Formats: sequence, C-alpha cells, structure tokens
Amino acid sequence: MHFDTVCVRGGITPDETTGAIVPPLYQTATYVLEEVGKDKGFDYTRSSNPTRQTFEGALACVEGAKYCATFASGMSAVDAILRTFDAGDHIISSDDVYGGVSRLFNTILTRHGMSFTYVDTSFPERVEEAIRPNTKLIWMETPTNPLLKVTDIEAVAKIGKKHGIPVGVDSTFATPALLRPLEWGVDIVMHSTTKYLSGHNQIIGGAVLTNDEAFHEKMRYQQKSIGAIPSPFDSWLTLLGMKTLSLRMTRHCENGMAVATFLENHPKVSRVSYPGLESHPRHAVAKRQMSGFGGMISFELHGGLEAGRTLMNSVRLCALAESLGAVETMITHPATMTHADVPDDERRARGLTDGLVRLSCGIEATADIIADLSMAFERV
Ligand code: PLP
Repeated sequence: MHFDTVCVRGGITPDETTGAIVPPLYQTATYVLEEVGKDKGFDYTRSSNPTRQTFEGALACVEGAKYCATFASGMSAVDAILRTFDAGDHIISSDDVYGGVSRLFNTILTRHGMSFTYVDTSFPERVEEAIRPNTKLIWMETPTNPLLKVTDIEAVAKIGKKHGIPVGVDSTFATPALLRPLEWGVDIVMHSTTKYLSGHNQIIGGAVLTNDEAFHEKMRYQQKSIGAIPSPFDSWLTLLGMKTLSLRMTRHCENGMAVATFLENHPKVSRVSYPGLESHPRHAVAKRQMSGFGGMISFELHGGLEAGRTLMNSVRLCALAESLGAVETMITHPATMTHADVPDDERRARGLTDGLVRLSCGIEATADIIADLSMAFERV
C-alpha cells in the first residue's frame, strides 16, 4: 500500500462487536478475569490496553517497523531507551539535540554513572573517532533541534554495525512521512509523538520503534515497570491525528520551503538553516535520505538577540510557543525556551546563539505566514 493509505488504514480494522470505523476508546484501568489465570489478553492498563495496542500497531505500520512501544512523552521514550544501559556505559550523542534530552543526559543519567560524548554527527568520521571500549549506544537527531543539522544515517549505521554498537535516531522532526531510519540500517527510532505524529497540539507522547524483538521486549518491560505510558485517550487522539500525517507533512514541507526561501532573501536575516535550501551544508544528504525537507527552520537576524526578540514579540499569526510540528505555525526562542537548560558554554559551542529564532511552519496558507513575518520584520 502507498504511504497515504497506510496512514489512514494501517493496523486498523472495524471494531468486531459494533463495526465502528474508528477504533473504540477503552478508557479503563483494569479488566475482569473470567477465572483465576484466564484473562482476555489484557490484565492492567499500565501493561497493556486495547486502544494503546491499536495505536502502537498503526504507528509500527506507518514507520515500517516490526515493533512499537509508546510512552507518556518523548522524554520518557528517550529515558526508556537509556534505562536499558548500565552505570559505566558510554554514549555518543549528536551535539545538537533537544534541550530536554541534553538535560536528561547531563543532569540525571550522568548521576547514575553513564557518560556522554557530544559530537557533530553530520561528520560521521567524528562518531567513529569518539568510540571507546565501553561505548554502548550512538544517539542522533536528524534534522536536529534547533539547528537543523542533517546526519548521513546510513554512514553512521555502518559505523555502528562495524563496532557492534546499536544506533538510535530521534526522528521527531522528519517523521516517517519524510524519513525511514530503519531502512537506512539503524536499530532504534524514537519520536516525540507530541509533534507531527499527533499533529494538533493536543497531547504529549513518545514512541520507540525497532525491528529487534529483544530490544522491544525491554521497552515493554519499561512500560510495565516504570509506567510512563500514554493514557488510552491520548493514544486514541494520536491515532486520529496520524491519519492525516501524510497530507499535513506535504503542506508543512511546502510552507517550510517557501518561508525558508523568503527568509534567505530577506535583508534583515543573516543566516537561515533549512535542509531544503541549497545553502544548507548537508542539502545533498537530506535530498538523498529524505523525501521532503519538513516544516522546521532556524534563522538569525542582523542585530542578534534584540532584533530576534522584537520579531518574536511582533508576530500575530505565528504563535510564540514552546513546541513544534502542529498545524499552527509556532515561533520559538531556543536560548530562553526549549534549550534554556543547556549550559551557556555548551550552547555557544554548538552554535546555538542567543539570537537564534526557530520556526515551525504550520499548515496555514503560505501567504498568511509570510505576511505575518513581513509585518513583524518591519518593526525590527
Ligand atoms: N526530541 C525532540 C527532537 C524534541 O523536539 C522534543 C520536544 O520538543 C523531545 C524529543 C521531547 O519530547 P516531549 O516534549 O514529547 O517529551
């Protein structure tokens, strides 16, 4: 089936009792057993729930993965993956990752004895150079949050295979509509389903997908043992959101390209990062491994922080908000919002300046987004 069809129909069959076309919402904590030791496949919603099961099945179809486990947030999905490692283990991570991921790594997991080396994974040779005898995971984001760096996934997956180290990708920005990391050889794919997969700013959620049954069992064990699972209602809402993923991503990509081009040609803008622009240092890689460039852009204005602040305070249609990947266009100041907890020196070292502005292009009319930005630029 084509991807558009998989998004709408994959993993979903009419309800057996009523024929309902939309999977029922099983908002229940527990299930009554027929007799001791005999249940109907569900015993307690922390371990399993029919609505979550349908959602996980549908997302596995959309990602082209054998297995999917979902979590209460993108952060708890990352945490579940990292909890499978031990004190003393070393992890190599992309230097530009979502600020919450840096916070988890730097302030929580290091206290439990893990160590992290940050490298710019868009230079795969740097990943290989950073490998130590105790390296247990290579973790990357592509495109990254917020600098939109792009990594050649196949190249890093080959390095992982050569050294027997699993490779995980946070594919939140790309979604399975634009990128299939498992097909490029990685072992684990993670999403913040809060973003494009649910698509409407309606839930917080996360997912971990893999073709490795043993690793998936570890994710199931985390769901049951830690309990950071999505509620049945959140699972159901995400399931509905996913049906329009393909359509929405087409529009996000169109708006992303148009707005990035507008920004690149604007005299008040000094730098734009968007994988679809030929000026992007890894445009060729993005073109090869992605089927579209997405809706995320970051840029800087001449005049740095002050100019950026004026712009962000002047927009009217673009919402000044701390998320991305939804139908509404959102504008964000990474230095004080999403990445505020990344230490200053680390932020500067990775090129995340105080003046950087991040834009998540929604699915509104392109002309309206550009008109709003133009109006705001006039105040700068
Ligand atoms: N990964 C990326 C790339 C993100 O942008 C985010 C949140 O912005 C997360 C992970 C964390 O996801 P959540 O907010 O659903 O916990």
